[in-house]
Amino acid sequence: MPEGDTIHRTANRLRPALLDQPLTRLSAPRLVGDRPRPGERITSVDAQGKHLFITFSGGLVLETHMKMTGSWHLYEIGQRWRKPQGYARAIIEVPGWVAVCFSAPVVQIGPRKAVGRTDLGPDLCVEGVDFEAVVRRVRTILPADEMIGDALLDQRIAAGIGNVYKSEVCWSLQTHPFDPVGSISDDKIEALYRRASKLLIANLTTTSRTTVPGGLAVYGRRGRPCRRCGTQIKQQTQGQYARVTTWCPRCQTEKGRQANAGS
Ligand SMILES: [Zn+2]
Repeated sequence: MPEGDTIHRTANRLRPALLDQPLTRLSAPRLVGDRPRPGERITSVDAQGKHLFITFSGGLVLETHMKMTGSWHLYEIGQRWRKPQGYARAIIEVPGWVAVCFSAPVVQIGPRKAVGRTDLGPDLCVEGVDFEAVVRRVRTILPADEMIGDALLDQRIAAGIGNVYKSEVCWSLQTHPFDPVGSISDDKIEALYRRASKLLIANLTTTSRTTVPGGLAVYGRRGRPCRRCGTQIKQQTQGQYARVTTWCPRCQTEKGRQANAGS
């Protein structure tokens, strides 16, 4: 799924083509309600967490959230699209360019206040995050038995982490993704979010995502040797939404289940 760095990269790619340009066409087959009119200018293209916002001079904002399936493509007018038109959920045309959002499950438009989530935590793709406040959010919003792997994905705590960075930062700090947050110190939780932010920011300008020299540490490496200790990497689904988690069973020892086994 797209992580925060992907959405920021998308925004950075769309911005030069769209910013300050007059809208010549907006097509969004499933949208209801007000729409920007042709001739309105695009005043901003922003990522916040995993949400992409395109603002028009009339005050409306188009919000897309890619979830597992969505992506934005940018084409020159007349260029052949790489996906079928039937998958297009939003098409924005300006002189010379057409931006197409394919297969995004969330596409909505409205005044800024009406779109977007107001309960999103700070964007980890941006410098200057108050990490102590992030830890406080973990302690106040989440129950103590919430698994850290699920907590890292919870965009109310901090925005931008998906399955890839969740798995990578847990490996990096030798934390088992199934450990309950109540068993993890404030310092360790802060360190996990700091590492995630550092990696997300480092990958904003890269073409292939890397978290360790040569690629990723655990994500996508099920059954292969851990880069730290050589043990086979494990993979399992986790939590309510059965999200993929990968980890090293040797260097990420599990606190939670040991505790459970003893009780
Ligand atoms: Zn290992």
